Parts: sequence; C-alpha cells; structure tokens
Amino acid sequence: MRLIEHVHTYLSKHLQPGDHAIDATTGNGYDTAHMASLVGSKGLVIAIDIQKEAIDVTRKRLENLQCLRQVQLLTGDHSEVLQSLCSTNTQTISAITFNLGYLPGSDKSIRTTPETTLRALEASQQLLKPNGLLLVTAYRGHKGGQDEADTVARWMQQIENSGWLINSNDPAVNGDNIPPILFVARRFLANNPKI
Ligand code: SAM
Repeated sequence: MRLIEHVHTYLSKHLQPGDHAIDATTGNGYDTAHMASLVGSKGLVIAIDIQKEAIDVTRKRLENLQCLRQVQLLTGDHSEVLQSLCSTNTQTISAITFNLGYLPGSDKSIRTTPETTLRALEASQQLLKPNGLLLVTAYRGHKGGQDEADTVARWMQQIENSGWLINSNDPAVNGDNIPPILFVARRFLANNPKI
C-alpha cells in the first residue's frame, strides 16, 4: 500500500462528519478532497498552499466533487497561516496533514523547508484537539529532503517526551528508490500542561 493510502485510511478512521481539519500542503488537492468528503457539509477543511496554482487546481477538483462548500482555500505559507489561526482555533482541529516537498510536475524549488515546517508543526500542536491526529509525510529523495525528514523526526521525539503518541511508517529503501516516511502523532492527553 502506498503511504498516501495509509494517510487516507488514518483519516477515514479518525474524521467524523462536522469535524474541522487542516491540509497544510494542499498541492493537487487529493488529501483535501478526501478530508472534505469525511467531514461533510457541516464540517470544515482549511486547505493551505503557498502556490496559487495548487489552490486553483484544488478548487476545480472540489467543485467537480461537489464539496467546495466545506473547504476554505488559503494561499500562503503554512507556518504563517497556522500561527494566525492559533488565536481563534486553539484545540478545535481534529486532524492536520502535511505532505512535504514540492508540487509534482511544478517548480521543484518551491518546496517546504525545515524552518517553516518546524514553525508550522509548532502551531499545529496548539491547534489540535485532545485526541487530535497529525500526519506528516516527508520525502527524502530530493535535495534537502533528508534534512527536513530528520528535522521532523527530532521534533516528533520531542513531543513524544511531552505526552504525545508517535508512530512512523518507514518503508525499506529499495535500490536507488528512497521512499517517503510517514509520521503519525496523536495528542492523547486531555489537559497537557505543556501545551
Ligand atoms: N498532498 C498534496 C496532494 O494531495 O496533491 C501534495 C502536496 S505537495 C507534495 C507539497 C505542496 O506543498 C506543494 O503544492 C507546495 O506548493 C506546497 N508548499 C511548499 N512550501 C509551502 C509552505 N511553506 N506553505 C504551504 N505550502 C507549501
């Protein structure tokens, strides 16, 4: 099973109609569309991408699937958008996904970086509800990808020490093909004093 299918399975088991969720790297909108179908018309998905091109493709996909009404599309850097959401949405979000890297078939220089990813993850920690789910897929094959994956791994270790439950799906390297890694984090304490 590809990691994206694992991500969709985790989301399917977790999200309920009416929930609020965030796709922090909407790209071509596959994950956003899946989340939108799960939260339904009474729920909300906030979908963020730094590229207008990605937001436009996602809008079209959602229109075709008739689930645009439950999605708020935001063009911008997810570290800034998520930080700005913290003032009004603390502990209200059921699931947040990150699919790091660049938009397939697009300019590979426009990609996530360890610095902005770290800031975005810090904000996500505040936004997630108790029992909230954080899914981060990190690609290690492109320039800077391994460094970013290592940064995410260290951050996950840190939050594990403060009471989060962390799992990872780390497929074996197959020849020259370095597969992505999926981190699955759950905020499972109701009143974590460190957050
Ligand atoms: N999950 C997506 C899908 O279903 O098609 C694919 C995401 S793609 C691997 C990564 C996306 O992150 C790209 O569309 C890229 O524009 C976006 N991105 C890169 N840096 C970003 C940032 N700082 N803030 C928000 N989005 C960013």
